[in-house]
Amino acid sequence: MQYPEDYAHLIELQKLDNKIDTLEKEIRDLPEKLNRINNEIESLKKAFSGLDEELKKKEVSLREKNAEYNAEREKLERFKKQLLEIKNNDEYRAMLQQIENQKKVVEKRENDIIEVDEELEEFKRVLPEKKNAIQKQISEKVEELEKTRNKEGVLKERVSTLLKKREKIEENIKVSYLRKYERLRKKGFNKVLVPIKRILGMEGEEAYVCTGCNSTVPFEISLKVREGEAFLRCENCGRFLYFEEKEENDG
Ligand SMILES: [Zn+2]
Repeated sequence: MQYPEDYAHLIELQKLDNKIDTLEKEIRDLPEKLNRINNEIESLKKAFSGLDEELKKKEVSLREKNAEYNAEREKLERFKKQLLEIKNNDEYRAMLQQIENQKKVVEKRENDIIEVDEELEEFKRVLPEKKNAIQKQISEKVEELEKTRNKEGVLKERVSTLLKKREKIEENIKVSYLRKYERLRKKGFNKVLVPIKRILGMEGEEAYVCTGCNSTVPFEISLKVREGEAFLRCENCGRFLYFEEKEENDG
């Protein structure tokens, strides 16, 4: 199988153009990617300072619980003093009851302190570990940010290499073919030329499909394409067909 040189070059040109398109899209997407990583770093930093804020909140809460406990405790002492000054039996019994109730309140406040204190201690215990984990994530993201920043240069370098290669190939293609190709490409065809692919039918018979639209290519056309005839079109989508030996191995 031997295609006319122009046709073979055109196929090569398209492969290059597709590579260049992919790289250029990657370059266009870089700012958004940088933005995303920056946002991720920001929220990690927020999470980090959030841990210190949470610690402060828990410490404040413990101080409040202590103050509440002390207030209830003083109240209990006051009731006990008042009891000594009561002469009336009914009032005495009422005060005794009040003291019992207040003892329960004091006990409840004491349990609150224990609970908050345990929570605080546990939080302090795991805090360094949590901070380290976030710190590590931040470093990783900063590294990713750096890499992504450098990537723009690398990608542009590759594009310029491919563009030079493209110029050389272009010189070998008839201008009328080039125009035709570029016109179709501008219309949004990233595949102006597509390989045909061998498939096996239900009866095990050989057939070829256009890989642009997946429709079956009539046998006589696929034969001519395989024999090296150029610019034969798919009857369904109108793309130019070609044949690559390696397709045979794909089954
Ligand atoms: Zn087609």
